[in-house]
Amino acid sequence: MADYAKLLEVGREAVAAACSATRQVQNALDQVRSITKDDKSPVTVADYASQAIIGHILGEHFGRDVILVAEEGSEFLRDEDNAVFLEATLAAVKDVWPEADADALLAAIDIGEGDTHHRGYWTLDPIDGTKGFLRNQQYAIALGYVEADTPTVGVMGCPNLPVDMSEPLDVPDTKGCMYLAIKGEGVYETSADDAGADMIRITRLDHLEGDPISVCASVEKAHSNVSDTDRVLEHIAKTHGVEAGEPTRLDSQAKYAVVARGQADAYIRLPTRPGYVERIWDHAAGACIAAEAGAFVTDMLGASLDFSHGRGLEKNRGIICAPPRVHGWIIEAVEALGIRPAD
Ligand code: AMP
Ligand code: MG
Repeated sequence: MADYAKLLEVGREAVAAACSATRQVQNALDQVRSITKDDKSPVTVADYASQAIIGHILGEHFGRDVILVAEEGSEFLRDEDNAVFLEATLAAVKDVWPEADADALLAAIDIGEGDTHHRGYWTLDPIDGTKGFLRNQQYAIALGYVEADTPTVGVMGCPNLPVDMSEPLDVPDTKGCMYLAIKGEGVYETSADDAGADMIRITRLDHLEGDPISVCASVEKAHSNVSDTDRVLEHIAKTHGVEAGEPTRLDSQAKYAVVARGQADAYIRLPTRPGYVERIWDHAAGACIAAEAGAFVTDMLGASLDFSHGRGLEKNRGIICAPPRVHGWIIEAVEALGIRPAD
């Protein structure tokens, strides 16, 4: 059996170091240029720095045994035409990894080239919600450990997420939050970039009968179907007499954390286009964290997320994450309205 305490401790050290580096990059955001990948999604120096730091720290602790399936690759930085980005990435890791040189940095990014054909492996989104990062809003450094078909450890740093739930979510925080979960052992909250800070256990309360439900969803309209979500909420209002306000929009897996800590009653992600398969690194850490806080995390049809199909959640479409009763209402509404994945 995996040594979960060690996985969590090392994961925490790695994510905390990455949070501190990405925070520094963000403080100089006007100098950050984003590069557009072939799939048109943006990537920044902070994505590469975060992946390099986490690859390096996992490699230091687990040596050649480490299997990491991460979102980014090093090809772009290896291209001589992009030497300025390599220099900037090196500068971004220096505070937390002072001995790094270009070769070590590129090799650390390459640790993330692992594949999923292993009994247990890490999966990393070094900056989930890069668009949120570029807007100085929410983003997450999301590291999950997957065994068979499910994540068993979740470590998620949300450097801009205020600890104080009365603070607005679209204004960056100076401390941020980190969430740590081991399957079956609960979830803890601590500060984002201090691996030695106290941790407090969190459990979310179920939605109170009769209270309005608060929902969170993507900022990017291309990532989650806005009109289907509105129809679901209208249906719930009609059938159960429970109103829902306009969904709170925030980028990244921080949405799972917001449900885990009881700030929202649901995270709804409904498909916008046929054929899109959710990536494992976009959900492993967050799903583990929300589930450990007592939320149900499934696809839009109510099936468990199945992490046993490589880099994509091939057998699932959409995501519904909510405490049990609200989860049931959403699944029932999706079914009643005939909302179906288009493929
Ligand atoms: P969010 O911040 O919740 O909007 O999610 C960001 C993630 O959405 C990125 O990491 C992408 O991997 C993912 N993504 C990209 N295209 C789509 C799409 N068409 N549907 C759902 N998710 C997407
Ligand atoms: Mg992502």
